[in-house]
Formats: sequence, structure tokens, C-alpha cells
Amino acid sequence: LGAAARLYTDEDPLVILSSSTLKPTVSNSSSAWLIQFYSSWCGHCIQYSSTWKTLAQDVKDWQQAIGVAVLDCAQEENFDVCKEYSIKFYPTFKYFRAHSSPTDVGTTYRGADRQVQAVRQLMVNILQNHTRLDWPNHCPPLDPSEKLLPLLGQRSDVFTAIVVEEPDSYVGREVILDLLQYSGVQVKRALSTDLLYCERTHTQFCCYLMSLLVIRQKGKRLLSGPEIWREFDRSKVYTADLESALHYLLRVELATHSTLEGEELKVFKDFVTLVSKLYPGGGSVVKLMETLSDWLLSLPLQRIPYQAVLDLVNNKMRISGVHLGAELRWVGCQGSKVGLRGYPCSLWTLFHVLTVQHDAMPTALENTGLEGETAPVLQVMRRYIRTFFGCEQCGRHFEQAAAASMDRVLDREQQVLWLWNQHNMVNYRLAGSLSDDPLFPKAPWPSPSLCASCHEEKSGVHVWNQDNVLRFLRHHYGASNLSPTYSL
Ligand code: FAD
Repeated sequence: LGAAARLYTDEDPLVILSSSTLKPTVSNSSSAWLIQFYSSWCGHCIQYSSTWKTLAQDVKDWQQAIGVAVLDCAQEENFDVCKEYSIKFYPTFKYFRAHSSPTDVGTTYRGADRQVQAVRQLMVNILQNHTRLDWPNHCPPLDPSEKLLPLLGQRSDVFTAIVVEEPDSYVGREVILDLLQYSGVQVKRALSTDLLYCERTHTQFCCYLMSLLVIRQKGKRLLSGPEIWREFDRSKVYTADLESALHYLLRVELATHSTLEGEELKVFKDFVTLVSKLYPGGGSVVKLMETLSDWLLSLPLQRIPYQAVLDLVNNKMRISGVHLGAELRWVGCQGSKVGLRGYPCSLWTLFHVLTVQHDAMPTALENTGLEGETAPVLQVMRRYIRTFFGCEQCGRHFEQAAAASMDRVLDREQQVLWLWNQHNMVNYRLAGSLSDDPLFPKAPWPSPSLCASCHEEKSGVHVWNQDNVLRFLRHHYGASNLSPTYSL
């Protein structure tokens, strides 16, 4: 077979398998395995071997949790085993879970991306697909720590490093595995979505603590944390979610900006104006937003310290009896655990409500400076997301979508439908991702159970009936479908 057969040698940090060693290695192993079945005659395999070697080098410290191996199907002694394992194309990537049975022929990875980064991430996913029962013996936990604060106060003989990251980031898990062979440091993950409320000002820090814990305020009632489940009806929209969105947005997300000036100030003013004019049902929220809007418009300043906004929201409003709830109360946006749903869910909800309100009240934005825009709700949302939304990656995706098609929105109905469609695009993209709450899986919305007439089949293919979708959205996000249950 000559030189080409030796694509891999014993010096490479991977295991070279053969017909006699494959089964004993992978079956009932304490670690998982990722194996490249290749053929030494295949040109692509030859080219690809340098990538696989780089990968093997990169993850050699992970081997107690997941090993990397190769098997050459072009060697005569391996013909039968490659047939037994149904290897039809080269290279084929198969993985075997830890503790797999001898009859297990592995699972084929069909992803198109075979670069080092993608395969590393695949390996992390393979590990996380284990259950508690077959978890690889030496693999540390890879899920984010739910309760982070107790970790900070712990006495320990080792350093604890906490990687704070977005839910779909792999960095924390990769670092945990990179350090598997080392003692003296333990690595934990925390999701930035759990910590969005954190730091900067004492108000934010307190808010964060309150959202995590049950805190007894001296001499007062208990403030509740997220562990209380609130029964709700999926066909309703809850004002508690809208108020919590504004609470979070004003008191936490914007408060990471110590001053607002230039474009930021303009975006903030426009957002406040929009909500003050379109938030349904009047009440405290509208009064607060109107006061805020008047105050912002009356200020001759080009630059305002954000603390001044916070003071207004927190104190002055309280004196006049107009205030937003002092805590986050997710209802339709509750997650099955901390870090899932909540704020991003409520922000979508808020903007859907605003598009529907604008459709219902065509003149509401007159004399605000926003009336000249074709799709003012979308434009303000776009600028808000781009400027302030804490999830940067989400903002980038949304901006791309807006740049591609928002200028085609020509009226208020299309504005409602554009946001619905865009939200569904995001749902499609995120289905099955780690941020997907198992209790609320991402799926095209509305489901047939919410709106049967929104769904049609043409020539065997599912299509949306857009007229019915529009009718449904007008009802669902309309003022009369808002439930005040759980609102203050
Ligand atoms: P959400 O998707 O937040 O939906 C909230 C509620 O809206 C649902 O419960 C349902 O009642 C209703 N709904 C669902 N679909 C529609 C629809 N098509 N039209 C009208 N109503 C609907 N996360 C990422 O990981 N990557 C991203 O790129 C990303 N981009 C985002 C961009 C924006 C502008 C926003 C606001 C959020 C983004 N997120 C992104 C977060 C993500 O979309 C979800 O908000 C988050 O994962 C919480 O999901 P959820 O299950 O609460 O449902």
C-alpha cells in the first residue's frame, strides 16, 4: 500500500485501530470515542489527514472523556470490519458513547463542517448527549452551574475559575475538558444570560441577587425568586411579562451604559416615545413612559447620566404612585430553569404587541417625529437591538435580517407580518439548541392548536395562510387579549 497507507503513525496523538482492536476499544469503554474511518487511497482523506492530526493534538487532553481514533478501510485486514460498521464513504466519522454495547455500530456524523472547531464542538455535544447513567467515568460536569454565588464563597483547596459566556458558546466546556488532566483548578461555566443583571451599579447587583434568591427583606414580606411556577394560558399575553421586559430593559440592560449621548440617546428617546404612544391600555406603564418621554424631550442636554433615568424610574415615580413592578415576574415567558426564556422572550412579546397596536391605531405616532418612517416600530426595534440588546450575536443576526428585507415593509400590516416571519426564522435556527427550553421547544408559531386556519397544505407542502396569520396576530397581541393576572 506504500506511503499513502501510513497517513497516521504511532507518533500522532490518536489511536490507530484495526479489525482486531476496534470492538474491544469502543465497547464498554469508560470514555466515548470519535473515529474517522478513512481510506488511504482517497484523495480527500489524504488532504484531510493534516486537519485530523491538528484536531487530535488539540484535544489530546480530553482522551479520558473522549478518545480520537482512525481506522483505514483500505487495508485488507479491515475490509470486513468496515463492512460490518457500514462504512460506505470515506471519510466517515462515527462516534460511540461511553459504556456502549458490543453490538453498537456507532452513530455517523453527517455534518458538512469538518474543520477542527466544528469537530471539537461535535465532541462536546457527544459528551453532553450522555445521560447520568452512562456518563463517561472521568468527564466532569459540562452544564452551566445554576447556583453560582454559593461557589464564590466556598473554601476550597483548588482555584475555581468561572467562565461566563453565552448559552451557545463552547469556550467554557472546551476549557473544562482542556484542563481535565490538571489538578489545582476547577472550571465552572455560568451563562451570561443568568448574569445579565450583574454588577456595574448596586441597583443592578441587588436586582440580580433578588432574582436568584429568596431574600427576606428586614421586617417585610418575602421577595420571590424564579422557583415559583405561575400557571398560565399560552393563548394569552401577560402584562406582567411586558412590565418585566420594561423593568429589565430600563433598570438593567440600559443601566450598563453610564451615560447616554449621541445616537444612543436618540435611540433611547425614540424607544420611550414609541412605548408611551403604543403601549396598550393606559395605566402606570404608559404614565411612566410619558413622564420619561416628556422629561427626555425637555432636557437641553446632549448627554445624560443614566443614573438620572434610574432615579426618575425608581424614586420620583414611586412618589407619584406610578411605577413599574420592583421585580421580574415572568409568566408566559417563564423558563423551566433559571437562564432560559425570560427577558428575550418578553422583548419579542413587547415588540409584537407594539406592531399590532400600531396597526390598530394608525395615527398614534403623529407629531412624534416617528410618523415619517414606513415601519416605525420595526425601525425603532432594529435600532434598539443594535444599540442596546445584551446578546450581541442575536443583534448581529437581527441586523442582517433587517438589512436584507426590512425596507420591503411598506405598511402597518406588513410590519406585523415581517416581525412574525423574522421571529419564526429565529425559531427555526434555534430549534434544538442549548437555549431551547425543553418545556417550550422552538417551533414554527402559531402552532395548529393555537391557530388551525393559519396552516394549509398546497401540493403536499405546508404553507402559511398569511391572511389568517395576520388575523390571529391582531387578536393574540391585541389589547383585549392582554391578561393582567400576576401584574402589580
Ligand atoms: P421566544 O422565541 O422568545 O418567543 C416568545 C414567545 O413569542 C413565544 O413563547 C410565543 O408565544 C411567541 N412567538 C414565538 N414565535 C413567534 C412568532 N413567529 N411570531 C409571534 N410570536 C411568536 N437567541 C439566540 O440564541 N440566537 C439569536 O440569534 C437570537 N436572536 C434574537 C433576536 C432578537 C431580536 C431577540 C429579541 C431574541 C433573540 N434570541 C436569539 C433569543 C431567542 O429568540 C429567544 O427569545 C430565547 O431563546 C427565548 O425563547 P423562548 O422559548 O422564550 O421563545
